[in-house]
Amino acid sequence: MKLITSLLAAAAISVAAFAAPVFAQDKGTVGISMPTKTSTRWISDGETMEKLFKEAGYTPDLQFADDDIPNQLAQIENMVTKGAKVLVIAAIDGTTLSDILQKAADAGVKVIAYDRLIRDSGNVNYYATFDNFQVGVLQATSLVEGLKLDGASGPKNIELFGGSPDDNNAFFFYDGAMSVLQPLIDSGKIVVKSGQMGMDQVGTLRWDGAVAQARMENLLSSTYTDAKVDGVLSPYDGLSIGIISALKGVGYGSGDLPMPIVTGQDAELPSVKSILAGEQHSTVFKDTRELAKVTVGMVNAIMDGKEPEVNDTKTYENGVKVVPSYLLKPVSVDKTNAKDVLVGSGYYTEDQINN
Ligand code: BGC
Repeated sequence: MKLITSLLAAAAISVAAFAAPVFAQDKGTVGISMPTKTSTRWISDGETMEKLFKEAGYTPDLQFADDDIPNQLAQIENMVTKGAKVLVIAAIDGTTLSDILQKAADAGVKVIAYDRLIRDSGNVNYYATFDNFQVGVLQATSLVEGLKLDGASGPKNIELFGGSPDDNNAFFFYDGAMSVLQPLIDSGKIVVKSGQMGMDQVGTLRWDGAVAQARMENLLSSTYTDAKVDGVLSPYDGLSIGIISALKGVGYGSGDLPMPIVTGQDAELPSVKSILAGEQHSTVFKDTRELAKVTVGMVNAIMDGKEPEVNDTKTYENGVKVVPSYLLKPVSVDKTNAKDVLVGSGYYTEDQINN
């Protein structure tokens, strides 16, 4: 009996010795709330973070909300109930999270706004994103360069598309783009022939490609029956695909109707292929692997009781406070540098973009 007891005691000790380091490794749960799976960028953002958080000793709880606001709220609420220590949130609608974030704050949970600013809440601790104004500058610069204004005989006709009006980023992209385009509109080198300008007129709810396609079809039939559109400012690859489809539908990209200069964002695979095939003109590459790394670094700092590194403490006023931010640099990509930038950085393989 004594022998059995001491054997059991020894077994218990060795189980404890074996289990202890595993337990010590668990730094707690991090809730990762991503908006949708319809765009591959959010899938890679989520999966990269999931992997990095695991490697750093956390238990990630990754959820995608199918672009449905109540769904995102329920998922976040569940993360708080289950005891997440930190929430990393890319909001669908940046203004809908105030109540749940109050609950999170009451429970001592820290919050990082991921890529998209969370508005109207004092309970947002940090913001990890790209320089969103610069994204718009890059889009418009590439559009202007593609339009070849120097030496053009008359003004060039363009149309403007904006992102989702419930996404704070959409305004930064639009304002960045207009900082380049407005002077050219004022000087008459560029004309927005439909007259539709401003986010209230050009915004695309939920970044929906089908909505952009329908609006482009309308513009073509209302404004371009006896004129030609030369360029389209598109803020996101998923919209560009819809816009290009509408353009092709009335014959652009064949015969004597060249494909207008169409911009984009995110370097999504179908758009990269379209750029290499000479259809979409450009996109903006934002290395989501880097954004994930910055975010995991922020969480580590928070959990160690340190201040995360930030490089912008002025730009992102969310209605309640200026959220300390870390901004990464976006990169303009067109046919001339797509392979260097995207394959060179290992974001895609040569095979992926060629097949
Ligand atoms: C992101 C973009 C993305 C868009 C649509 C924005 O908030 O910053 O990268 O194209 O959402 O998903």
